[in-house]
Amino acid sequence: MHVKKGDRVVVLSGREKGREGVIKQSLPKKERVVVENVNIVKKHVKPMGNRQGGILEVEAALHVSKVMLICPACGKPSRTGHRVNDEGKKVRVCKQCNADVA
Ligand SMILES: [Zn+2]
Repeated sequence: MHVKKGDRVVVLSGREKGREGVIKQSLPKKERVVVENVNIVKKHVKPMGNRQGGILEVEAALHVSKVMLICPACGKPSRTGHRVNDEGKKVRVCKQCNADVA
């Protein structure tokens, strides 16, 4: 996964092309992410226990290949690469400005 929870991303394709948002959930096994306020679907729920039934608006997961990280350093949608930092840890780097992206 090139993006993770808390990242700001832009949607590259599909109905929500061009929308930006923050990843609120990452589903690595499905290679999908849930982006805040992007890909809203209406979900009909039945009343259950003390929960009321009705129509809920929830974010549907998007495939990770449809989103691109917005680099927090340069603010551009960027491809990411990896490098090993001075402490021997693997870090993501922005391919636009070469800044480390945590
Ligand atoms: Zn950058």
